[in-house]
Amino acid sequence: MTKFIVVAGGVMSGVGKGVTTASIGKILQEHGYTVTAIKIDPYLNYDAGTLRPTEHGEVWVTDDGGEIDQDLGTYERFLNLEIPKRNNITTGQVYKTVIDRERQGEYLGQTVQFIPHIPDEIKKRIKEASDHNDFVLVEVGGTIGDYENIPFLFALKSLERDIGTENLSYVLVTYLPIPSHIEEMKTKPTQQAIRLLSESGIFPDFIICRAKRPLDSVRKKKIETYANIISEHVISEPDIESVYQIPLDLEKERFGEKILKEFKMKSKKSPQWSEWKKLVENILNPKKTVKIAIVGKYIDIGDYNLADSYISINQALLHAGASLNTGVEINWLDSKKFEDNKKSVAELKNYDGVIVPGGFGGSGVEGKITAINYARINKIPYLGLCYGLQMAAIEFARNVCNLKDAHTTEIAPKTKVPIIDVQPTQRKILEKSMYGGTMRLGAYAAIMKDKSQVLKLYQDTGRLKEDTKKLNELMKDKKQAFRIGILEKNKKIVLERHRHRYEVNPDYVDLLEKNGLIFSGYYMRADHTPLMEYIELPGQSFRGTQGHPEFKSRLGNPSPLFYGFVRDALKYSK
Ligand code: GLN
Repeated sequence: MTKFIVVAGGVMSGVGKGVTTASIGKILQEHGYTVTAIKIDPYLNYDAGTLRPTEHGEVWVTDDGGEIDQDLGTYERFLNLEIPKRNNITTGQVYKTVIDRERQGEYLGQTVQFIPHIPDEIKKRIKEASDHNDFVLVEVGGTIGDYENIPFLFALKSLERDIGTENLSYVLVTYLPIPSHIEEMKTKPTQQAIRLLSESGIFPDFIICRAKRPLDSVRKKKIETYANIISEHVISEPDIESVYQIPLDLEKERFGEKILKEFKMKSKKSPQWSEWKKLVENILNPKKTVKIAIVGKYIDIGDYNLADSYISINQALLHAGASLNTGVEINWLDSKKFEDNKKSVAELKNYDGVIVPGGFGGSGVEGKITAINYARINKIPYLGLCYGLQMAAIEFARNVCNLKDAHTTEIAPKTKVPIIDVQPTQRKILEKSMYGGTMRLGAYAAIMKDKSQVLKLYQDTGRLKEDTKKLNELMKDKKQAFRIGILEKNKKIVLERHRHRYEVNPDYVDLLEKNGLIFSGYYMRADHTPLMEYIELPGQSFRGTQGHPEFKSRLGNPSPLFYGFVRDALKYSK
């Protein structure tokens, strides 16, 4: 019988409920159990596809083409899993399903009501997403007391009744402020959160206390008394430097054992934390540090949200660094300034590597191209992600192939040299398919060029082997198989996630290749048109991908392209 652990937040959001949820999952995995995680987002958007990343953080893309909340990314990074889009449940999805069903007459004349129809749909979705795992973590977005959370709390209470109290546990993640004028840790907001939760008939089995400092015995006692909970179940989780320390810290409080005991279960294996510890140690005290410039358009973001809007790239660099015992110092450079003053691009010589990340629209594009040109000529390691590949192809066409008008039709629809273009047939295929829009979304297979640098990175990191196994799994699902592309026998194939519309124009591939650009992998579309997935330049560290490999980077299992990039940056820095 699957066990459910519901994680809800008190006091305020942004205290690390997502990483705590992921950490609990990681601990249970280490104790020998299979785990998945579900994120409930109580907003009315159907998914995060239309949410502004600058407000809500980055849009996370799943293997099955979901554009969803970034917490699923946190789960994947900690748990080393591929989590499908159904594991993100929004109010919008729930209501849409119920209303669609009503319109189709499926309720056979009943009055369709908030209760029971909405919680029933929520329960159905939670059960489906649990997918026969030993444990399912269900994180409720927002905080206790939000009106929008009511249907979800009601549904969870009802799920508890269906499956039995012994199969469901509640964890409250709360925050204990220390106001600077009194320098005393306050438990009152936590007490309020406990009371609010009890209004939904929910009494926490564990309370995780986030705070600047560790909880002392006096506050612990207060919470214990107020919540009527044994003191062992009040767990302190003070601020730390790296989120990857959290599972280790929770385990210091023997959290794994305690939660298993709550379910009358025992460890299946003794946890092996040594490798994780080593990686965390590398993050905290790296032997060397490299300086990386990420060149993008940041005007409308503001420094504050930058890290959140590009969280996966950040994390991918961190993971690669951890595996190489190298710290990665990230600097965000606004490409606009290379447009205002072309010479200022020379500041890139102070960096060990340059990244141009994904992006949309024309703002700052010429500055990105200038930066890529500088990196290519001066042999500074370069990694182009999606838009970063497209811009690199344009730079190469303009300055190596002498096609001065080279551009992308995303910005210059009438350009005479559409190096990057939307493919007419692709548009047709995509519009006809069930995926709606014109975006290439989710996992796609790339058939790799023998002896290429990129293939070697997938081999060296063990990713090629992993992906070969996964492909067989994905190909069993017809919808997925259609999306992934045509596979070729005896070829080496890798999988990465995508989120883009434009492609390297097949009409120019030969010309670019003749001039020295290597296409190290392609996706074979259903109509047998190959679409370019990777580029590289021989004899230097200059690579790009049409995909977003940052979505498949995990601590201890870094993304091959990021691994290669940080490794080369380290070499370059010497
Ligand atoms: N704007 C480009 C496209 O749609 C790149 C998108 C991206 O970088 N994710 O193809």
